[in-house]
Amino acid sequence: MEDKLKHPVFKIIAKVAGKKNVQAFVVGGFVRDIFLKRDSKDIDVVVIGSGIEFAQNICKILGKEAKLSVYKNFGTAMIKYSNWEIEFVGARKESYRKDSRKPIVENGTLEDDLKRRDLNINAMAISLHPDTYGKLIDSFNGLGDIDNRIIRTPLEPEITFSDDPLRMMRAIRFATQLNFTIDSKTLTAISKQKERIKIVSKERVVDELHKIILSEKPSIGFKLLDETGLLKIIFPEISRLKGVETIKGKSHKDNFLHTIKVLDNICGKTKDLWLRWAALLHDIAKPDTKRFSDDGWTFHGHEFIGAKKIPGIFRAMKLPLNNKMKFVQKMVLLHLRPIVLSQDVVTDSAVRRLLFEAGDDVEDLMNLCEADITSKNDMKIKKYLSNFKLVRQKLKEVEEKDNIRNFQPPITGELIIETFDLKPSKIIGDIKAEIKEAILDGRIKNDFEEAYQFMLKEGEKKGLEPQHS
Ligand code: ATP
Repeated sequence: MEDKLKHPVFKIIAKVAGKKNVQAFVVGGFVRDIFLKRDSKDIDVVVIGSGIEFAQNICKILGKEAKLSVYKNFGTAMIKYSNWEIEFVGARKESYRKDSRKPIVENGTLEDDLKRRDLNINAMAISLHPDTYGKLIDSFNGLGDIDNRIIRTPLEPEITFSDDPLRMMRAIRFATQLNFTIDSKTLTAISKQKERIKIVSKERVVDELHKIILSEKPSIGFKLLDETGLLKIIFPEISRLKGVETIKGKSHKDNFLHTIKVLDNICGKTKDLWLRWAALLHDIAKPDTKRFSDDGWTFHGHEFIGAKKIPGIFRAMKLPLNNKMKFVQKMVLLHLRPIVLSQDVVTDSAVRRLLFEAGDDVEDLMNLCEADITSKNDMKIKKYLSNFKLVRQKLKEVEEKDNIRNFQPPITGELIIETFDLKPSKIIGDIKAEIKEAILDGRIKNDFEEAYQFMLKEGEKKGLEPQHS
């Protein structure tokens, strides 16, 4: 094990532990990640005694460069030194009250400290004291769980989850990130304790949800959230997508299963959290727009209603109401547009309009559309993908020709004011809009000269006279 403790800080910790005769251990995520062969950024150290005092002693050795932060209320201390971040805490024993995630904390043994942890894979420790340096303490067989790819809790799972319900989200998050199975007793306990998630702040829940969304195959997590009943509580809008209705022998697809497939698909193309959110929300208004007619099931306008719902969803999930939200909204609104462009005969004007509306996000939009193909029929997938290839080609050609992506009006409002000697008024906006429409329609080129002549004609139509200076 010693060779796994490569980080130079472990030698320093061992020196202090030996000199002061304090038992110190590296614990939790760092130990788990050694066995998973993953890089771990955070190092958590548990000492039997005062974590703060121990950290102060480490800092004395590291010198002035080391920044120590002490959190007296929590009994923890954090050292920042070069790019390290190491947290120190005394081993603790915890007991919980019904209405809060915040436990009553007392000093405890290493055993007490490990059993209060969320999952067996996170409840291992490695000794840093010189006498036992590198010895693994694995009271709950975390190593066995890693080998068997299982998620389980050290204590009775119902107690673990009731004490701190965030652990339910963490269990599902780790199962998703690592593609591990949640042990059946643990999974049942999540179902039983699901209502307890309501005492956890939305921010903490969404933090975990983001880790699920950012994993390689988020559908694993969404299926588990659904199966345990957590999804309905933490994200009812997504849960509403579930189900298949059949009328006169015609069924529509299950929009929940479709959505999480689209999310998985987009993960192969981007690591961007917000494009992944767009995939998750692209069909969010399908339940609102579902109709049955003789032609079968339709969801007319789900892209418009969906885009309108985004701010409400972002607010409820405590997500930022900024340009990221606007981006998601735009993706939801435009997600059907490239399909129209994949038809045989497409006017340049339709292509220009999409370039204008999508702007620099057009590439993301195309990726979303390609991810949206989830047919079981491989032939169909191939056909749609090749159609979209053609759309990409058309977008490229029109953009090269007309430069629409970062459309800047070739004629400014000031020039219109000057030309016709106007006071600032609505008519200026009207002329600007006419010019834009003419360019997008292809009636004039996207350049100054043509736009200028067009402006003169538009002014004339409105009874304006150019002022010649
Ligand atoms: P990641 O870095 O991917 O978020 P991590 O397990 O290292 O994973 P931290 O939140 O840094 O995440 O937690 C460090 C350790 O603290 C965990 O490995 C676990 O032992 C313990 N822990 C964290 N959160 C909880 C919790 N809610 N309940 C019990 N133990 C927890």
